[in-house]
Amino acid sequence: MLISLVVPCFNEEEILERFHERVTEELTGLGHEFQLVFVDDGSADRTLVILQELAAADPRVRYVSFSRNFGKEAAMLAGLRHAEGDAVVIMDADLQHPPELVGRMLQEHAQGYDQVIARRTRKGDRVTRTLSARAYYWLINRLVDVELVDGVGDFRLLSRRTVDAVLELTEYNRFSKGLFAWVGFRTTTFSYENAVREQGSSAWTFGKLLNYGLDGLLSFNNKPLRAALYLGMLLLSVACAYAAWIVGVALVQGVETPGYVTLIVVVTALAGVQMVMVGVVGEYVGRIYYEVKRRPHFLVKATNTEAPQRIREPQ
Ligand code: UDP
Ligand code: MG
Repeated sequence: MLISLVVPCFNEEEILERFHERVTEELTGLGHEFQLVFVDDGSADRTLVILQELAAADPRVRYVSFSRNFGKEAAMLAGLRHAEGDAVVIMDADLQHPPELVGRMLQEHAQGYDQVIARRTRKGDRVTRTLSARAYYWLINRLVDVELVDGVGDFRLLSRRTVDAVLELTEYNRFSKGLFAWVGFRTTTFSYENAVREQGSSAWTFGKLLNYGLDGLLSFNNKPLRAALYLGMLLLSVACAYAAWIVGVALVQGVETPGYVTLIVVVTALAGVQMVMVGVVGEYVGRIYYEVKRRPHFLVKATNTEAPQRIREPQ
């Protein structure tokens, strides 16, 4: 059995050599053949140089280097396309995903599981991040069709047929967590304690997280559109009822026109609601816009590997 490790790397020069050392040490002990597929996501540092050095010294090392930073989703896609293994493990380069868990994943895979997910605990995370994550997953699981679990990320083993299925999904806006869940097959999850990042810093700024969250909400169905529709209908009925009430009062008690404040509040609130709705519609239109352009997910600047032929490139 051949095992592929897919590793997205963005400015990871400080840790790559140690990562390679740790991972080869760990995988050698497992008694399977393996290959390492590193994807340099347009790093500005010496990541590519180090990858080339590693590849020169170790024939099991493959690398794909992007022309610019296309994001981790694109990097994972490239890695999956180039991975030839019977089982593929996706892992971060910063050693936050403990390489010793690969053995456990393979054991579960041998039991017949197509996806083995390592779920991290939120120990050591800032309280704000933990709480917002919890709120987010509560919301998203009410809105999307696939089940998303807090702490479940991209650190997982995928069987060959799962990888092939994921590669069939050629959408431009990729939300892998959801795509993996959408694909299905036999899935199992185990927990591990989160390790603190050893070197460098997380590339996830607050803004990036917010956008990622929004992608998750909007990538799977049109429930937000429908929610906007229902909200609009609710407001309309409230407005109609209120209008009827005003007319009724005017007929009984005569005309009076107080309520300047009420008027302003209602007008601005409605304007806000309308903007949100237009925004929701706009998000979907924007997605369609990106999909119809059919641009590639990434551009490759340098590589020592060809994507295997059996994997079809999207038209
Ligand atoms: N990464 C990437 N492209 C990006 C940002 C991150 O390929 O634009 C890689 C990064 O090198 C790391 C993994 O994705 O291997 C996770 O990134 P990071 O550690 O910054 O995220 P966190 O652990 O905070 O979720
Ligand atoms: Mg990390």
